[in-house]
Amino acid sequence: MTHRAGRHFLQIPGPTNVPDRILRAIDRATIDHRSGEFGELGAECLTGLKAIFQTESPVIIYPSSATGAWEAALVNTLSAGDRVLAFETGHFANLWAKVASNLGLCVDLIPGDWRRGVDAEQVAEKLAADRNHEIQAVMAVHNETSTGVRSNVPAVRHALNEAKHPALLMVDTVSSLGSIDYCHDEWGVDVAIGGSQKGMMLPPGLSFNALSPRALEASKRSTLPKSYWRWTEMLASNSKGFFPYTPATGLLYGLREAIRMLQEEGLPCVFARHARLAEAARVAARQWGLEMVAQNPSEYSNVVTALLLPDGFDEKALRSLILEKLNMSLGSGLGKLAGRAFRIGHLGDFNELMLAGTLAGVEMGLTLAGVPHRKGGVNAALEYLTRRLA
Ligand SMILES: *Cc1c(COP(=O)(O)O)cnc(C)c1O
Repeated sequence: MTHRAGRHFLQIPGPTNVPDRILRAIDRATIDHRSGEFGELGAECLTGLKAIFQTESPVIIYPSSATGAWEAALVNTLSAGDRVLAFETGHFANLWAKVASNLGLCVDLIPGDWRRGVDAEQVAEKLAADRNHEIQAVMAVHNETSTGVRSNVPAVRHALNEAKHPALLMVDTVSSLGSIDYCHDEWGVDVAIGGSQKGMMLPPGLSFNALSPRALEASKRSTLPKSYWRWTEMLASNSKGFFPYTPATGLLYGLREAIRMLQEEGLPCVFARHARLAEAARVAARQWGLEMVAQNPSEYSNVVTALLLPDGFDEKALRSLILEKLNMSLGSGLGKLAGRAFRIGHLGDFNELMLAGTLAGVEMGLTLAGVPHRKGGVNAALEYLTRRLA
């Protein structure tokens, strides 16, 4: 391996760049996880996460990837054969639906074209047709990382309320938490799923469930088998800042630092920064003349922009060229977008000049790969950002 000078640009939409401050926070000796010192660390993480989810209810931390928290949300609240409603907004929605069917749930997956978010009118129709209230949960992905489409969660809640339907609302916030406004209590979400490696700026390895009083009630009736994921023992230990099994202490040091950083910047400023950088990325894309996967401007993601390449051009070739020549990783086309779309991650510990470098790398890559495009995307984005900062 030859040495490559300078920083690698990790512009996939997660895992994201881990800021030095978090790396340094993690670089500490492991402590006794039954000690008073640990209890303080655990308590600060558990309390701090509530503020990030914007909830008064408990948040659970698992030492797992977010897929584990998907499973935890389902096994803690549902029983074998229960009907759940899911929406094919993209790759991650499909994977979560697969987890549900693997667990023996009866999944009603509403097909989608991977270019739009959850359609609240379809939710309303499905719920109205379910007169016997067989549907036990509605599963929505807030930010579909494979397509760059954000779903309107309050509209889904509104559909449940209008139909007076008792189904639980479960929301995947893995790539929105800490990047796009997510209001757990205000939006009436029952179980949210989060992860450490996207907007939370941490390495992979932690996942979260944010709960609601109704989710806790449902957990008393739920009969799906569960042990490692069970909330009951977790919540009992968590009340004193501890965990029922060995926690990922190093990552919790990092989580404490990440929460402090988000609080210091202030969540409204964090969301505004993501919105500004995302719009600049879209300004560049429009100038290049590349089509966005997301079709509805009100659903554009402030976390990731997925762009389609013209027919005959392969995103894999473009991405490997950019990695080889410019030391930057871009997101691949996932699922049925494989080969056709690449994704620019613009989330987490990220600012104007990092975006400038990222967009410059994309524009140079498009030229090197011979992809037809209009020049000047980077300039257009910089002009936009300059106006916003003036
Ligand atoms: C990354 C991601 C996941 C999966 O997380 P893992 O940590 O890989 O298990 C789930 N949902 C969304 C929306 C994601 O972006």
